[in-house]
Amino acid sequence: MSPTLLHPVPAPAEIAAGLARVRAEIAAAERDAGRPAGSAALVAVSKTFPAEAAEAAIAAGQRVFGENRVQEAAAKWPALKAAHGDVRLHLIGPLQTNKLRDALALFDVIETLDRPSLAEALAAELQRRQGPCPELLVQVNTGEEPQKAGVAPQQLSEFLALARGLGLPVAGLMCIPPVDENPAMHFALLAKLAARHKLARLSMGMSGDFAAAIRFGATQVRVGSAIFGSRTP
Ligand SMILES: *Cc1c(COP(=O)(O)O)cnc(C)c1O
Repeated sequence: MSPTLLHPVPAPAEIAAGLARVRAEIAAAERDAGRPAGSAALVAVSKTFPAEAAEAAIAAGQRVFGENRVQEAAAKWPALKAAHGDVRLHLIGPLQTNKLRDALALFDVIETLDRPSLAEALAAELQRRQGPCPELLVQVNTGEEPQKAGVAPQQLSEFLALARGLGLPVAGLMCIPPVDENPAMHFALLAKLAARHKLARLSMGMSGDFAAAIRFGATQVRVGSAIFGSRTP
């Protein structure tokens, strides 16, 4: 596989300013929704940006990060995590079963449990290594897009039962709405599904729509470009 091309490092002051802006917007959205301050956590998505960019965000007080590729994260994060013991890393992209071991060594949260074969492989690997289980979210394909990963909404009950049977503790749900649709109906659907299954965590909302996601109950928003800048090549 070809190495990931990383963007140049944005100026640390710009990253700090982006973070401050996003934090203020999250606080405003929490307030507008009548929610307690801090009830929507910020996952800073550092994908495609080099370690120095993440380091600048850490220096500005950010501790929770998201990456979408195991290989890229494995090149970037072990040193950062060693230097900053309280950093937590979320996997927000597809997980191939042959990357499972690397992922478990690195990620504190896996937001993309998206198919039975992955649940089975994960349960087997967790049993083998006897280590702590990462926090798990199930990715739901709320738009039922054929090219997108995730469990279809009508198959969620069955999938959660399978995960439970395998001893996998699922903490919540995650979705990536279709790009060409109003995300509100997808956020509403994900919130409804989480409530129905008594799941506390709701990962939804990105740079363009995290305020809306917070109105619909997001407990964590995944924000990249609004902090680190555009990822256009
Ligand atoms: C890249 C990515 C994000 C962040 O997207 P931005 O629009 O840059 O905020 C959020 N979630 C997932 C799953 C992603 O892959």
